[in-house]
Amino acid sequence: MFTGTLAAVEAGTLTRDQAEVVLDQAGTVPEEARRAFEAELLELAARVTSLTRPKFRQRARTLRERRHPESIAARRSRAEVDRRVELRPLEDGMAWLGLRLPAEQAVAAFNRIQELAMPLQGPREARTLTQLRADVAADLLLAGVAGCGTGAGVRAEVMLTIPALTLLGLDEEPAELEGYGPVPADAARRLAGHAPSFVRLPTDPVNGAVLAMDRKKYRPTKAMRQFLRARDKTCTFAICNRSAGHCETDHTTPWAGGGPTDVANLSCGCKKHHRFKTIGAWKLKQPAAGTAAWTSPAGLTYTTEPEPLACTPPEHLATVLERLEIHDVNTRLSALYRKQRALRRDGPARRAPFPPPAPPGPEDGPAGAAPCPF
Ligand SMILES: [Zn+2]
Repeated sequence: MFTGTLAAVEAGTLTRDQAEVVLDQAGTVPEEARRAFEAELLELAARVTSLTRPKFRQRARTLRERRHPESIAARRSRAEVDRRVELRPLEDGMAWLGLRLPAEQAVAAFNRIQELAMPLQGPREARTLTQLRADVAADLLLAGVAGCGTGAGVRAEVMLTIPALTLLGLDEEPAELEGYGPVPADAARRLAGHAPSFVRLPTDPVNGAVLAMDRKKYRPTKAMRQFLRARDKTCTFAICNRSAGHCETDHTTPWAGGGPTDVANLSCGCKKHHRFKTIGAWKLKQPAAGTAAWTSPAGLTYTTEPEPLACTPPEHLATVLERLEIHDVNTRLSALYRKQRALRRDGPARRAPFPPPAPPGPEDGPAGAAPCPF
C-alpha cells in the first residue's frame, strides 16, 4: 500500500509534506479507489512543482471529493451526525474550543467573526486580527443568543475556586477553574471582579476550605457544611443543644426566594426547629454571618451568636506569611501586639505613643510566639 508514494519520495519527486497529504487524503478513500487516487495525486505533485503544502492539500481534498466512489450527499448525511463541540485543555492556562460543523455553517460563522473583528483594527488597537477574531468569537459564544431565542438572559456557569489571599491580591497562588485546572491569579481576579457568569468560591488561605459560594447551586458543598458545623456547633435555636453534626443545613433566606448558598445565609437547625421556620411559626434572620435572630409567634426575638472560630495556629500563619514574603506584615503585627500587651499591662492612662516598627528580632520572626491576631 502506498508503494507509489514511497517510491516518489525516494526518487525526490515528492516532498515529505506532500507525502503526508497524500497519506491523509488517500487513507480515507475506500480501498477500491485508493490506488487510482494516489496515482493522480502523485502525477499532480510531479506536474505542478510550485504547490505549497496548503495548496497541495486543498487540491488533494477537492480531488478526493470528486473521485470518492460514494456520493458526497450520502457521506455528508452520515458525517453530519458527528457534529459536536470539543473542549481540550492546553498548557499555560489555555484551552482549545473546537466546533465540528457542516462546512457551510463553519465557513459562514468564520466569515461573520471576521466581519465583526476587522472594524476593530486601528492604530490604537494592539491586538492582531487573529487575536481579535478569537476575542469576538468568545464574546459571541458567551453572550450570544441562538436563532430560536435560546440563551437570552442565560449566563454561562463556570466554577472558579480562588484562594482568599489571591482574591485580595495578596498572593499569586493560581485559582482552579472547574473542568480545566489552574488558571493564573490575575486572570482569576479579573474574572472574580468583572465576570458575573463565574461562580466564585473563595477558599481559606490555610486549609483551602470553601468560604462562600454564589447563588448558583442549592446544595452547599461538603466544605461549606463542614465550616457551618464548626461555626454553629449546635442548632441555632436559642434553647436547643442538638449538635450541628445532627442538624440540617438551612437557607436563612430561602433559596427559592433569592437567598444565596453562602455561609452568611446558611445555618444549622435541628429537624424540629427547622420545621418551626418552614411552617412560618418562627421567623429566622441572619443579621451577620453566623448570628441567628429567631422571632417567636409573639414577636419576641432571641439571638444566638457563634463562638469565635479557632484561630489560625501561629505556625500555619507563619508558613503562609513566609510564602507570601509579607515580612513587613510580621513586623507591623509584632509592633501591634507589643502595643496591645503594654495597654493590658499598664492601662490606657500610661499608654505610650504608638511604637515605630522594630526590626525583626528572634521573637518577631514569622514563627514567633506572638499571639494569634485573629
Ligand atoms: Zn434545635
